Amino acid sequence: MSYQLGTECVQGGYTPGNGEPRQIPIVQSTTFKYESGTEMGKLFDLEAPGYFYTRLQNPTNDYVAAKICALEGGTAAMLTSSGQAANFFALFNIAGCGDHIVASSSIYGGTFNLISVTMAKMGIETTFVSPDCTDAELDAAFRPNTKAVFGETIANPALTVLDIEQFARAAHAHGVPLIVDNTFATPVNCRPFEWGADIVTHSTTKYMDGHGAAVGGAIVDSGRFDWMAHAEKFPGLCTPDESYHGITYAEKFGKEGAFITKCTAQLMRDFGSIQSPQHAFYLNLGLESLHVRMKRHCENGQAVAEYLQSHPKVERVHYCGLPGDPYYARAMKYLPNGSCGVVSFELKGGREAAETFMNALRLAAIETHVADARTCCLNPASTTHRQMTDEQLKAAGVPAGLVRMSCGLEDAQDLIADIAQALEKI
Ligand SMILES: *Cc1c(COP(=O)(O)O)cnc(C)c1O
Repeated sequence: MSYQLGTECVQGGYTPGNGEPRQIPIVQSTTFKYESGTEMGKLFDLEAPGYFYTRLQNPTNDYVAAKICALEGGTAAMLTSSGQAANFFALFNIAGCGDHIVASSSIYGGTFNLISVTMAKMGIETTFVSPDCTDAELDAAFRPNTKAVFGETIANPALTVLDIEQFARAAHAHGVPLIVDNTFATPVNCRPFEWGADIVTHSTTKYMDGHGAAVGGAIVDSGRFDWMAHAEKFPGLCTPDESYHGITYAEKFGKEGAFITKCTAQLMRDFGSIQSPQHAFYLNLGLESLHVRMKRHCENGQAVAEYLQSHPKVERVHYCGLPGDPYYARAMKYLPNGSCGVVSFELKGGREAAETFMNALRLAAIETHVADARTCCLNPASTTHRQMTDEQLKAAGVPAGLVRMSCGLEDAQDLIADIAQALEKI
């Protein structure tokens, strides 16, 4: 039986039996006991399901991964120690030395570094394309060794909206999957699989946790990409894995399970970027109210964006829920119920105005974080992009006076009053 999204947020992933704990148990154990070596051997060969070591899998994590899987409408999912680990695993599971990736240029800075610097050192090249590229420009980015296409539903921090259907069409025309980082939208506001994406990733650190409590990530497989139909591109999934007695993942686990099984059995085994069961428990507490909280984050984001838009000291507001925003039409298609609580805006008066404004805020805290229950903000020019000149900042799309504000769950009236008094100080 499948339920509505809110019901899955509250009850998905774990159904206790008679007399069992109502809340998901935290299995705080590194290892698991077996009656015989033969039985445990079957687990090592992936011949039987079960747990043997928490570096690879843990029951608490699997309850929470199953909930996220249900929310996204996927067939298999896993938790990782961070969003960075989720994106690295999702890409490295199918791309290795000598391979190539096509990625939207409008993505999280950490992911941009991961792909353009660290994965490049591993021999994986990337071509970045604008999220607003034409079909022809997108097509031209592919090479014979391209293994995946990557983008973010709503990009952090640029707040561009990805045309998921366009990117999926191009990926599939070239026989590769589309991987979408759905962190900012969450499955409450967008389910990328419904628009053709094949794999979804999350930094659960953001809205899914939602309380600034635990760093984490997740990967979900739609179960729809036919690896075997493109076997020559994906030898890791479509030829025998000698480290597991010659198992061919795409044969043994099918389209529905091959990707996550390989990712767990090989990458989690070898890199060990597992989420701790305690963090998974915190994440689940956040997920239980995700559908209620997202609505409020979006209402606050919309109210703050509308207020800022009409303020004389504000040069420009970026929020896809505003009718004048370049991404409004795309947001109406992919995010009809709301986007997220993050708004960015440029103050007249540049870096100095931004600094005066932020120092005057009382409710909104200065933090390098977003998607928290508590409103926070950041001026990239004086923090994350500090080494850049005003000209370089402009070219990078983060002018010196830009402030990124993540609207929390407070009352919009108080947030706007706080912003109003701070704007007066400029
Ligand atoms: C924060 C973030 C990440 C990285 O996640 P961590 O949990 O901090 O490792 C990846 N993608 C997006 C869109 C993010 O906002």
